Amino acid sequence: MKLDTRVMRYLTGEDWRVLTAVEMGSKNHENVPTPLIEKLSRLKGGASGVHKSISALAKAGLIAKLKDAKYDGYRLTYGGLDYLALHTHSARKEVYSVGSRVGVGKESDIVIVADETGTQRILKIHRLGRISFRTVKSNRDYLKNRAGGSWMYLSRLAAMKEYAFMVALKEEGFPVPDPISQSRHTIVMSLVDAPPLRQIYNVQEPASLYAELIALILRLARHGLIHGDFNEFNILIKEDKVTTYPTTATATITRPDADDAAETSSTTPSKTSQIPTSDDNDSQQQPQTDIILTPVLIDFPQMVSMDHQNAEFYFDRDVACIKRFFQKRFHFTATQPGPFYKDAKRSVGRDGFKRLDASVEASGFTKKMAKDLEKAILEQQQAAAAKKADKGDFGDDAESDLDAQSDDEEDDDGDDDDDENDDGEDQELQEEQNLADI
Ligand code: ADP
Ligand code: MG
Repeated sequence: MKLDTRVMRYLTGEDWRVLTAVEMGSKNHENVPTPLIEKLSRLKGGASGVHKSISALAKAGLIAKLKDAKYDGYRLTYGGLDYLALHTHSARKEVYSVGSRVGVGKESDIVIVADETGTQRILKIHRLGRISFRTVKSNRDYLKNRAGGSWMYLSRLAAMKEYAFMVALKEEGFPVPDPISQSRHTIVMSLVDAPPLRQIYNVQEPASLYAELIALILRLARHGLIHGDFNEFNILIKEDKVTTYPTTATATITRPDADDAAETSSTTPSKTSQIPTSDDNDSQQQPQTDIILTPVLIDFPQMVSMDHQNAEFYFDRDVACIKRFFQKRFHFTATQPGPFYKDAKRSVGRDGFKRLDASVEASGFTKKMAKDLEKAILEQQQAAAAKKADKGDFGDDAESDLDAQSDDEEDDDGDDDDDENDDGEDQELQEEQNLADI
């Protein structure tokens, strides 16, 4: 589902009112009756103005008619919700222009945007339900039968939760992007000009980087938190060039090959030029570039409390994920076993560490919301697993869990295959669109 802002500049003030009316009506109606849209939009021109806007919005794919609807009405589409969110970020002066999509995750689209000064930022659009809607019929039905617009509700919850955690973590000095703005199912955050750990092929001292990542897991635990998806895709590695110090964790980044870097490099050209090539011949002729590595953590919708009933499982999984990656990629195995949940559990809230699980709940992200979101994320993961299993049926080699996961993510990095096929979209980068006229 590509964010296409081309129509945005042609929408009139009336169109925006009608779009907002459909959103308001969606809170209680899956199919918002046309008379209700008329009533909620309170246009001066009356019904005919509303109808004009309705057809403009429908033509742009921002609202749509439900199949088999029993009465005349419309529902908001993802595109419509995207527009409303962008409109809000733009009104707050946090987003001025929209660039290209840099990533398609299972549950999100990642888009480069810029503020009025041209500073690039990241817009993360949550798309909970994307996989489950398409692949698992029972999920589709389950979501469809719930109160109107559940995908909207769940995607909004994911954005709210992620934003709340980003704010809380930032306040405690954790290395996370700067949270800038949240609206509906989207958040705007600072752009971290750094590749994910997955693109790091060569680390001079894997032990240091490993220790730093484990320390991060333990630091989160002291604040009562488990990341829940602590893997090589959700850890960006910032590289700062320095004179070589033998005890510093350093890395030579193999320049990502075209497939790997295609999307990020196209939008952050400065990054590519900063990544040194580690061609063996090169390194003999010129000194290797040594850089300090600083991990930056992203992707927080699945964070759980250290008090969660499955906390031990999630904690162990995060630790195992890093261990497995370091073993596989760097052939590094820690001499020490663990860290173990029971030890981390004892450290929660000790020495004045603020419990962030509690403070996020206090910020308005209620237990009920957490539960709804958790359920949806679990379903999403099951749907993804089912999709993976389906792929396996078609003769793929048996893969380990990690391979399978990486494989799956590789698809996502390339682009969302299903999505592209379903929507007939091309992969061309969008032209930058200014939102100023909107
Ligand atoms: P998902 O929930 O779909 O996994 P993520 O938040 O992990 O979404 O983002 C997907 C990818 O987008 C990341 O692996 C990273 O490459 C890129 N990305 C996300 N946020 C940022 C950011 N603030 N700065 C730079 N790149 C980012
Ligand atoms: Mg991620």
